[in-house]
Amino acid sequence: MNIILLGPPGAGKGTQAKELEKKHGLLQLSTGDMLREAIISGSKLGEEVKTIMESGALVPDDIMIRMISNRIEQPDSKNGFILDGFPRTTAQARELDVMLERKGMKIDFVIELAVQYDVLTQRISGRYNCTNCGAGYHDEFQKPFKEGICDQCAGDQFSRRSDDKPETVKARLSAYEEQTAPLLPYYRKMNSLSSVNAMAEISEVTLEIESVICVP
Ligand code: ADP
Ligand code: ADP
Ligand code: ZN
Repeated sequence: MNIILLGPPGAGKGTQAKELEKKHGLLQLSTGDMLREAIISGSKLGEEVKTIMESGALVPDDIMIRMISNRIEQPDSKNGFILDGFPRTTAQARELDVMLERKGMKIDFVIELAVQYDVLTQRISGRYNCTNCGAGYHDEFQKPFKEGICDQCAGDQFSRRSDDKPETVKARLSAYEEQTAPLLPYYRKMNSLSSVNAMAEISEVTLEIESVICVP
């Protein structure tokens, strides 16, 4: 089963993708994480995208399409994946359709995490991740069971994203509005869009997604 999670920054895509990964053995493919890894590794790609990401703008389509095309060729993608953060433009969505068809694959569900924008700043400003395993947390809404210790790996080092500061968040929201929101009618027209209420608590959103994909 292959799934696309759509929604603005802070809607909960990464959080829900990790749940689906844990429960149903699907692979989370986060283009944001892939780009951040490229920056940390100091690769040529990392250098190319660093300033763009810091500004809150989108990385060019050709780079992103190549990245996802290569990634879904890997054997671990064959058991099913969740696209988190891709596609983000109609050009990316069209290319995705073409590349999947060529590979004999398809997307089974496109799920919109529907949220009101006024909760996003608070979600993003409280977001942090375990440096060791990447598990996501929030200062208020998703604290680790034991303060300062990661639930998943017992690590005690955490980090915040440098693009999660208010000025950049504004630019990222505009990029979403202008370039990504048009994907909603694109997928609606193809009858493959479901919408879940992402204003609800994390566990409720997970249940709603499970009812869409019909996995108990
Ligand atoms: P996205 O991947 O869409 O940018 P995240 O999954 O990283 O969003 O979520 C952003 C922040 O909000 C995280 O700190 C996460 O713990 C928190 N969060 C996610 N979903 C919810 C929710 N339904 N209610 C409250 N906080 C949430
Ligand atoms: P969020 O989870 O907050 O929505 P991401 O981690 O998905 O943010 O993305 C962080 C940044 O990485 C984006 O602001 C953009 O610069 C870049 N990026 C990630 N995915 C894409 C994509 N599919 N197309 C273009 N840029 C992307
Ligand atoms: Zn951890």
